[in-house]
Amino acid sequence: MISGVLKGDKTALARGLTLIESNKKEDRTNANMLIEQCLAKRTQSKRIGITGVPGVGKSTFIEALGTLLTSKGIKLAVLAVDPSSTVSKGSILGDKTRMGKLAQDENAFIRPSPSGASLGGVAQRTREGIILCEAAGYEVILIETVGVGQSEIAVHSMVDFFLLLKLAGAGDELQGIKRGIMEMADAIVINKADGDNKKQAAIARSEFERALHLYPPKDNGWIPKVLSCSALQNEGIAEIWEMITAYFELGWQKGFIEKRRQEQNKNWFLQTVEGLLYTQFYQDPKFQDQLKNLLQRVDERSISPFKAAEELLKYHLDPS
Ligand code: GDP
Repeated sequence: MISGVLKGDKTALARGLTLIESNKKEDRTNANMLIEQCLAKRTQSKRIGITGVPGVGKSTFIEALGTLLTSKGIKLAVLAVDPSSTVSKGSILGDKTRMGKLAQDENAFIRPSPSGASLGGVAQRTREGIILCEAAGYEVILIETVGVGQSEIAVHSMVDFFLLLKLAGAGDELQGIKRGIMEMADAIVINKADGDNKKQAAIARSEFERALHLYPPKDNGWIPKVLSCSALQNEGIAEIWEMITAYFELGWQKGFIEKRRQEQNKNWFLQTVEGLLYTQFYQDPKFQDQLKNLLQRVDERSISPFKAAEELLKYHLDPS
């Protein structure tokens, strides 16, 4: 499987992704080995996050942008982070045939969102998925998400560039948009700028530009761009790619992409430690009895919740 992935074999890659998505303990050992081998192959990729509400045109946009890239001979992988499946048991992103043309494209690889019990789990699998795709020779990794819960923050924490797709003409361009998302965006693209919608899109564009000026400049000096496009009619897509390319050239030259990745790596490491500690702690067999006992004492008010927590931890660390 390792050599298949490194050779860029799509079937091996798909199997590798299934392996890292598995919950079985023995699969985890193999998955870790696979990831280590993939990490050893250093590549220069572009990791791009794309977000927007359902219906904004994400899949149409990804199909248009993706086709442009593959026509240039660029290998593209599309991954997704869809935590909605954990809430509603049905996924928002995966319930229709999406990106049909791209799915047939030799230079493209599309994978639906991993499922999982928590956003943290889905995010970790997607991060590992990125590493596999890069080792398989994919140069651009698009990670799509819907603005559900914290999924945008999770995707932002694994990409170099974060693109927010918006619609014009709703009359409330700046309302209903989570402030944090504006701050995270490296670019805002107004989609469906076609037909009668063109004028509205131009208005929305200048409103967003004005609004973005109110935010403090980013540490890296990049000023978020506002563009418009029609994903359906394939207009404005090449300009968006030019803008993204300019960002990467600047970022590689000035080192801010490397810095962002270092920061992300540090955070992933710390998050993984937290996750492992949590699992180890809660899987301790003696833990359940002790927990029940202390819960009862908290209930009876014979111990404070804080003291009880301390005791539980002390017990775990030193059961003697
Ligand atoms: P998603 O839910 O964000 O992935 O959105 P889709 O890509 O599925 O698009 C939702 C609907 O909007 C579909 O009917 C698309 O054909 C339509 N759509 C997408 N992009 C455009 C566009 O640029 N212009 C117009 N007029 N319609 C679009």
